[in-house]
Amino acid sequence: MPQPFTDDALAPPIPPAPEDVHSRVIDWFSEAARDLPWRRPECTPWGVLVSEIMLQQTPVVRVLPRWEDWMHRWPTPGACAAAPQSEILIVWDRLGYPRRALRLQAAAEAIVERHDGAVPADPQALRALPGIGEYTAAAVACFAFGIPEVVVDTNIRRAHARIFTGAALPGQTYTAAQRRLARDLMPATDDDGGRRACAWNASSMELGALICTARSPQCAICPVADLCAWRAAGSPPPTEEQKTRGQAWAGTDRQVRGAIMAVLRGGEPVDAEALLAGLPLPEADDEQRRRCLETLVADGLAQRRGDVVTLPGVL
Ligand code: SF4
Repeated sequence: MPQPFTDDALAPPIPPAPEDVHSRVIDWFSEAARDLPWRRPECTPWGVLVSEIMLQQTPVVRVLPRWEDWMHRWPTPGACAAAPQSEILIVWDRLGYPRRALRLQAAAEAIVERHDGAVPADPQALRALPGIGEYTAAAVACFAFGIPEVVVDTNIRRAHARIFTGAALPGQTYTAAQRRLARDLMPATDDDGGRRACAWNASSMELGALICTARSPQCAICPVADLCAWRAAGSPPPTEEQKTRGQAWAGTDRQVRGAIMAVLRGGEPVDAEALLAGLPLPEADDEQRRRCLETLVADGLAQRRGDVVTLPGVL
């Protein structure tokens, strides 16, 4: 297990040598990494892709049961592509941002059509799938196929910012300078075909998720405490530009849409007026309720025929 560092540790060089940080973080990961099903050797590239889509803006603890259920029902892209949309949305349950579920199914359909049902390893081919952005393509290439793409999520951006630039937080936007830093920090791939680079991606992401968290970094047990530029600078608070906006939930359209979807996931056709009137959100006025139902229909997450509303494909 990593040894705790004390406050009187020697002041580090600023910024630290990337190789030193790589070794510490990768060694820490080998001991401390969570045992997640999509990290196990037997997990398929499809399982990795499903996990990456589900984990977008969603905590691991909420994803785990949904991922298990999804992979049990649809262990291959072909099985997912053939499933009714309504079932896809029911199994997505309350993971939030349910358009991700439909995009994941669209990606499965494209994998069947373009790649004979096998998730492609090539990052460009991954990027060309519906709903797959730069991050997800890089993460699947790296974690499923061992291809040393530069993987940068919010956890990695925060760890990079603190360790190497001394910033408290990386800010809202993924800047060109951060992109350069992430690329420059990647371990060389000449000697090992990229194994260390992929280990760096996974381990720095885990460090950001478990130790170098946004609100309360656990510097006392951090494996790079004596190398960290932010800590060496006295752990200054974030500037206004570095702060991220918290995502409100109560009173938002997201909350109202979520409440409508919760009713529709019952799987039965419902009367639109009764549905809207019965939402347990007293602060949501009639206009907001109607607007949210309309946007769900426009997004393909709900279907309306006259007075009746259902999940897509039910009527
Ligand atoms: S010492 Fe603290 S701020 Fe620096 S990387 Fe570790 S947890 Fe993050």
